[in-house]
Amino acid sequence: MRTVYLNGEYLPEDQAKVSIFDRGFLMSDGIYEVTSVLGGKLIDFDGHAVRLQRSLDALDMKHPSSKDDLLEVHRELVRRNDITDGMIYLQVTRGNPGDRDFAYPPEDTVPTVVLFTQAKPGMADSPMAKTGMKIISIEDQRWGRRDIKTVQLLYPSMGKMMAKAAGADDAWMVEDGHVTEGTSNNAYIVKGNTIVTRHLGNEILHGITRAAVLRFAREAQMKVEERPFTIVEAQSADEAFITSASTFVMPVVEIDGAAVGQGTPGPVATRLREIYLDESRKAAV
Ligand code: PMP
Repeated sequence: MRTVYLNGEYLPEDQAKVSIFDRGFLMSDGIYEVTSVLGGKLIDFDGHAVRLQRSLDALDMKHPSSKDDLLEVHRELVRRNDITDGMIYLQVTRGNPGDRDFAYPPEDTVPTVVLFTQAKPGMADSPMAKTGMKIISIEDQRWGRRDIKTVQLLYPSMGKMMAKAAGADDAWMVEDGHVTEGTSNNAYIVKGNTIVTRHLGNEILHGITRAAVLRFAREAQMKVEERPFTIVEAQSADEAFITSASTFVMPVVEIDGAAVGQGTPGPVATRLREIYLDESRKAAV
């Protein structure tokens, strides 16, 4: 049985209980982070800690502990659950004020902090990296503050189900004719030596993997254009791919039934995946 973390305690998973009055449960009033573990070490912990702080600030939520304490909890869970490859999920909610009310509870309401691990042996050798993903496009019907990593994930779940029903692996969301991002990842196309991905703003999550991959791409002398693109432009690109903490860099080979490039993972996505995995393992803590 897994050991999980709840409000300062390490507990067997079946003994970790959260109140029915918790605002995470009643209002989706909570935020989260997912950090990958490779070879027993954390990938880009600093990036996730910084974004956690950003999400908390955006929602006027207190930071439950220092970055160093949080790192120690992550490491302790990796140790206790003997995780080699996998991920650590962290969630912070505004806690349990005792009654249901739309207004934020008093300042002294204690936040709920939960962390757990998910083992994913060999996650860096996913077969999909060799075959590539098929995606469909769907309308982006989420709220307007997608830069805050909230646990309000129903529309992304619906999007995954729409993809599944269409025989695809995932969906890219489209707003005002332009791709925002994938249901749980950032979206990219490649034209020649240029990588195109939507600019940062409230419309997308500021991916930690995105920041790292764009840095590595620039270091490898690739050109990066941060601007909106359409599905038609993506279908006629040389390559397409996605990034996220748990999939790293994953090639996209089909969009709404049309093959991208040769219909197989392209050299740029493949190379960026290698660089990302190499560099991230080197810097893991
Ligand atoms: N966009 C969305 C909507 C996501 O849910 C995620 C993954 N949580 C990402 C992008 C990728 O972010 P990261 O690279 O930090 O995992």
